[in-house]
Amino acid sequence: MSDNCLFCKIARGEIPSRKVYEDEEVFAFHDINPVAPVHFMLVPKLHLVSLIDAEEAHAALLGKMLLLVPKLAKEQGLDNGFRMVINSGKGGGQEVFHLHIHVIGGGNIPPMVKRS
Ligand code: AMP
Ligand code: ZN
Repeated sequence: MSDNCLFCKIARGEIPSRKVYEDEEVFAFHDINPVAPVHFMLVPKLHLVSLIDAEEAHAALLGKMLLLVPKLAKEQGLDNGFRMVINSGKGGGQEVFHLHIHVIGGGNIPPMVKRS
């Protein structure tokens, strides 16, 4: 838990969000600035900065999150698949430094990285 972390505050309910799912270990909520008709994030309640900071001890938690994504995606109406993104570190475009999985879908999903 980190006092000044936006996603810790959201997971604790101190900052409002549109909740998608919650259990004792994880929290999922809609992105405030969606890039597609469905765009939500799944975060661990544990304050973990990024995937770069994950260790063996987090394996079960990360595995649980990965297995949860398709279930939540389906509940959100994504019957035809989804994109999952984990921006990791400044070099990966991460802006909020609490590990989160973006789940994106619906509408037209463009190629992941634009080729020049
Ligand atoms: P990233 O660039 O991977 O760190 O993604 C951070 C994401 O958090 C962005 O997609 C933002 O739109 C989203 N975001 C920032 N503040 C909030 C908030 N208060 N509630 C929901 N999503 C947020
Ligand atoms: Zn946090």
